Amino acid sequence: MRRRHFLATLAALSLPGRRLRAGAARTRIHPFPLSQIRLGPGVWRDAAEVNRRAVLAEDPDRLLHNFRVTAGLASSAAPLGGWEAPDNELRGHYVGHHLSACAMIWASSGDPRARQRGTQIVSALAACQRALGSGYLGAFPEALFDRLRDNRPAWAPFYTLHKIMAGLVDMHTLAGSAEALDIVTGIARWTARWTQSLGDADMARVLEREYGGMNEVLYNLAAITGDRAWADVAHRFDHERVFRPLADGRDELKGLHVNTTLPKIIGAARRYELTSEPRYRRIAEYFWHEVAERRTYATGGTSNGESWNTEPGVLAGELSGYTHECCVTYNLLKLTRQIWSWTGDPACADYYERALWNGILGTQHPSDGSKLYYLPLAPGYWKLFGTPRADYWCCTGSGSESFAKLGDSIYFRDDDGIYVNLVIASELAWTERGVTLIQDTQFPAEPRTRLIVKTARPAAFALRVRIPSWVARGGGARLNGKPLDGFAAPGGYLVVDRTWHDGDRLEVALPMALSSVAMPDDPSIEALTYGPLVLAERMGSAGLGPGVLRAEPTKPRAIPEYKGDGLAMPVLTGPAPWLRPAGGKPLAFHTTGPGERREFVPLYQIFDERYAVYVKTPG
Ligand SMILES: [Zn+2]
Repeated sequence: MRRRHFLATLAALSLPGRRLRAGAARTRIHPFPLSQIRLGPGVWRDAAEVNRRAVLAEDPDRLLHNFRVTAGLASSAAPLGGWEAPDNELRGHYVGHHLSACAMIWASSGDPRARQRGTQIVSALAACQRALGSGYLGAFPEALFDRLRDNRPAWAPFYTLHKIMAGLVDMHTLAGSAEALDIVTGIARWTARWTQSLGDADMARVLEREYGGMNEVLYNLAAITGDRAWADVAHRFDHERVFRPLADGRDELKGLHVNTTLPKIIGAARRYELTSEPRYRRIAEYFWHEVAERRTYATGGTSNGESWNTEPGVLAGELSGYTHECCVTYNLLKLTRQIWSWTGDPACADYYERALWNGILGTQHPSDGSKLYYLPLAPGYWKLFGTPRADYWCCTGSGSESFAKLGDSIYFRDDDGIYVNLVIASELAWTERGVTLIQDTQFPAEPRTRLIVKTARPAAFALRVRIPSWVARGGGARLNGKPLDGFAAPGGYLVVDRTWHDGDRLEVALPMALSSVAMPDDPSIEALTYGPLVLAERMGSAGLGPGVLRAEPTKPRAIPEYKGDGLAMPVLTGPAPWLRPAGGKPLAFHTTGPGERREFVPLYQIFDERYAVYVKTPG
């Protein structure tokens, strides 16, 4: 009754048709579109392939089941389980992620099956939206939003709506679906009516419930359509209670749910990009520095039990089986990419690399593409992967996107030329200039990369290659076989500004060394690193049958301790003289000394066994 009244009252309201100021976005550096980048052979392309197979293995009719039931349309498909089950209040969220993943897979690989799959689901969703008749589209009835408005229990309906809207926006921008834009515009109109019915105080209460990136997706819609009205609707989702302290430079993040907070900040960053209001840039940059530099583990992840439980820089007591939620890394990488494009700050690129290698790559099981929810950092735990068709966690969805867009932050451009930010085998088609840049590398199995220019005509531009902060002594570059006089300090860019000819080749040596990242509040607890890779001690798979591996680890072991006494003479300089490379196994190390030999490998390589990332060392 109340909802009918609400709709009748608001249906007549129309949105103002002001146009968004053209050219308001002021980003200095631009990413290349995914469609211009192809991954080359190596661990990243392998991971993208595993994800592609997993995404395409989904059954569209099963994904659509709850949408069709909600719209009163026939569906004989078997319902999915977990968070997509017919009685779960987040149902439908994964379908939004799935649309994003399909659009990204199409853009990054050109696989026509991905676009066809996305288009098929978009058309089916259009039919559901038509049947519902109000502009609303969801896999649960609008009644869940009534409950939210009336301050009754409802998990997070706008969180789910955001995923669906973002998936439709991606299908439009990456896969050219006009129908997807129509649907999402209809949902935005419905959202505008819904929010217009609430005063600011009631809206502030609504914003206390997790709402994903509703502000971001509506700002994106404003940018796509040029219609300022969507920015006004987006602004209703800008959460002042969270933004105010950040704008004032105060870290009041303790106690906040991390993945509820992050998408709001991405929305603030998007607002800055559209409006150039410095306050929103301040919010995003201050937040990024606090979180990326003072609240992340060595892996680049943040959160414990999904929250920040401490003041910044206090992490030693925050090791558990529920650390490092994977959606959080997904979102933090998105924000990092935005801020890097404003600032060109190499610290952003360093962070991006660290989180990508350690917080993304090993979070998908190579056998079936199942995804992690948390990356446990308590010693002796294992990676608990979701069960396909049965779990559909938030991180199942964001993970399917992470592995569908692995190429999106390797290359950037500005008026002067190209930035190469990541050492990942790949090929960039710089179609605007008729240049192809091939990055040929087996990194991290080899500590170097080769950049080869293909061009029909000589092309003048600056090639700026990031020299990561972890690069050890001995780095250098050769141009067409001849050593270059200069190099860049670690944490900077090697700039080669010249007229490039077809076949020109820049080879960059990036020596890796053992190092460590200490807990900010307890230097005796460290994670060992090799180049950008966080190492973990392998603790074996004894007792880890399939049933145990799919269960939550609950009994941590003690933090492994290594004493300097009696160890063999140092074989490597740096913080871990008690480690030496394991002969014949690239990227593997073992302890020296008289005790039991223990093996360390990159965390991203560990599956189906116990491990420890943080260890106690002689200091
Ligand atoms: Zn998640």
